[in-house]
Amino acid sequence: MRTEIVVCGAGMAGITAVYHLSKLGLKDILLVDSRPPLTFTSDKSSESYRNHWPSQTMASFMDHSIDLLDELAIESDNIFQMNRRGYVYMTAQEEIIAGWRRTAARKNDPAYAPSPADGWQNQPNAIDFLDDHSRIHAAYPFLNKTVNGILHPRRCGWLSAQQLGMHLLDKAKRRGVRLIEGEITAVARQNNRIHAVTVNGKTIKTRRFVNAAGPFLNNVAQMMGLSLPVYNELHTKISFNDPLRIIPRNAPLMIWNDPLLLDWTDEEREELRSDSSLRWLTEEMPAGLHFRPEGSENAQTILGIWTYHVKKQEVVAQPHFDQELYPDIVLRGLCQLVPELEAYRDRLKRPFVDGGYYCKTTENRPLIGRLPIEGAFVIGALSGYGIMGGMAAGELLAAHITGGTLPAYATDFAPNRYENAEYMRRLPAIIAQDGQL
Ligand SMILES: Cc1cc2nc3c(=O)[nH]c(=O)nc-3n(C[C@H](O)[C@H](O)[C@H](O)COP(=O)(O)OP(=O)(O)OC[C@H]3O[C@@H](n4cnc5c(N)ncnc54)[C@H](O)[C@@H]3O)c2cc1C
Repeated sequence: MRTEIVVCGAGMAGITAVYHLSKLGLKDILLVDSRPPLTFTSDKSSESYRNHWPSQTMASFMDHSIDLLDELAIESDNIFQMNRRGYVYMTAQEEIIAGWRRTAARKNDPAYAPSPADGWQNQPNAIDFLDDHSRIHAAYPFLNKTVNGILHPRRCGWLSAQQLGMHLLDKAKRRGVRLIEGEITAVARQNNRIHAVTVNGKTIKTRRFVNAAGPFLNNVAQMMGLSLPVYNELHTKISFNDPLRIIPRNAPLMIWNDPLLLDWTDEEREELRSDSSLRWLTEEMPAGLHFRPEGSENAQTILGIWTYHVKKQEVVAQPHFDQELYPDIVLRGLCQLVPELEAYRDRLKRPFVDGGYYCKTTENRPLIGRLPIEGAFVIGALSGYGIMGGMAAGELLAAHITGGTLPAYATDFAPNRYENAEYMRRLPAIIAQDGQL
């Protein structure tokens, strides 16, 4: 068997790659995955998107990706249910408020109103800032009254990643892309050129190969004798029901921007302090606890994420998620942000816990471009932004493969950037601007 190009991995990365390649007219594209499409990481995300990133490179990459999502939403009658509710960052710290006040475009705008629940069109692109306590709490009455400032970037929201991915895959298949279920176990080279891949024990000859293996990026790179500068972290999220509708169904994604000290009784605190493995629970917990409603107006689900505890780790096919402590801690934190959630503290069914891996580079930028073997390419290390950045990532990969015009951010995402002395000089500053939630 022979094919023009083989893409390994039908997660968001591989699917957007074949979507854009087929859109550019490339024929004879084979997409291979050992699992059903989108089922390892890409259906585990919290499906949110934002153009609010600390570095210009990431912000322009995301803005472009959102442009492409907007076009697709128009063309598909928003089949992937994208909204534009914005992200609302909250703080109680004066120095944060002062920083937001300096940089925000619209400060205490008299016309400030939360974004509409549905739709994405005709929404402002600006970032709103409020430090007027009564207006903040009139707009978001369910929040703890200690919130003194909010920053509301508007070009943000969420969508259905499953619908988006399946829509793109469907379009790609209609243009002739073939999807087969199978594991790629070898990638053969001849004279430093891609020559063939082995799928389910069978050899398929090909001149081009795309590594879109998500958290398995390095396992697949090793088949080509390469090692990529990526690592994996396991990230967890919870979902629980809010039958009392304490968090309004039209709420935006809300992020606590400050570190948090969990509220324990004196007795609990003493007990935790006396146990060296649990003492950290009485110490300051990192910023970034966030939540949002999931589903329609009539649904009850709330998602909660708090990335307080991640480390580099080996990928396993079925990762284990902490079903006890993690949901308890996230709920405890959420009760401090939204005090009425206390109503559920003792009578809540156990939240549903799941998650997946963030495959990352050290500076949290993706790897998209050519590998040092003729005909080999990579699209991955999409960390916690592969749904929002997928459209622009696939487009960029397709431009590398077909020799198209590359955008300004291309060199900052290319795998060979670490060989560039100027990039390496900037690297510490880029790492400091990681921007991941
Ligand atoms: C808890 C959590 C929350 C997140 N929230 C967000 C969010 O709000 N917004 C956002 O934009 N992103 C979010 N993300 C990140 C996003 O989900 C990922 O960046 C994205 O899904 C990565 O897609 P991928 O295609 O690179 O990897 P994957 O979806 O993992 O796909 C890789 C595929 O490659 C296949 N594969 C690997 N090796 C082989 C082989 N040898 N042969 C055949 N097939 C192979 C695997 O089976 C898999 O299907 C979140 C992630 C997590 C875990």
